[in-house]
Amino acid sequence: MPRQSTKTRRRKFDAGIARTIEVMTEEYGPFPEEPRLDPAHEIVFTILSQHTSDINSSRAYKLLLDRFGALENVAQGDLADIEQAISPGGLARIKAPRIKEVLNRLLDLNGSLDMSFLREMPLDEAKAWLRQLPGIGPKSAGIILSFALGMPAMAIDTHIYRVCKRMGIIGPKVTVDKAHDILEAAVAPEQVYPFHLAFITHGRQVCKAQRPRCPECVVAQTCPSRGQFTEPDSGPDKEATSPARPRAKRLAQAPHALPEKEKKT
Ligand code: SF4
Repeated sequence: MPRQSTKTRRRKFDAGIARTIEVMTEEYGPFPEEPRLDPAHEIVFTILSQHTSDINSSRAYKLLLDRFGALENVAQGDLADIEQAISPGGLARIKAPRIKEVLNRLLDLNGSLDMSFLREMPLDEAKAWLRQLPGIGPKSAGIILSFALGMPAMAIDTHIYRVCKRMGIIGPKVTVDKAHDILEAAVAPEQVYPFHLAFITHGRQVCKAQRPRCPECVVAQTCPSRGQFTEPDSGPDKEATSPARPRAKRLAQAPHALPEKEKKT
């Protein structure tokens, strides 16, 4: 059989991801764009959400703003006061100095916490600008650019990373940093937002870390890992030879989605 050119393989790979997004969107979507925090608030929220639940991070964020009123005041605030305000969110001794440091670095670099200028930059430059901030890696930069500024940046969290590996979209040894580059090149800009929400929902609800629910999976037919897992009390994965069984409609939840009353308008 004649070998396919790199360009042809690339096209097939990209088309495969596009089709997967389409199937998952039919299952979990649609994904309407939600009003989000502005970038500086998103940075703070991202730090608060590290290693804790959405409920705890939302509570800590609200308590922080209740206490200080504005992020400029947090930047000048006493570290012990910040720590106390965010303590219900967990890891306050680590997160308080991180928040204060990043806000002050932002003020040093930019003179204000208004980061809307990033929207005018090419994506790579905007990412590089954010990455100079302490504690901002590819995932945090992706979240800020994608969700706060509506730019087509990838934000690969643990669920998306796991699903992509199991589906063979990225190789088993690809690092999460490298995965950002690979997926950003493969997914069309207008598909980045649905990709994020579709894959994260799939990872949380079906392709779970410990016991993926392969018999309920809408993309099982194209997944090379199908059949490698068993479901609790269900015996071997029968889905390898039979069509997907009926599923209840699952709802996606936007990452970092805040309760209505806490959303910044
Ligand atoms: S078939 Fe199983 S391993 Fe593959 S994506 Fe679906 S749930 Fe995950």
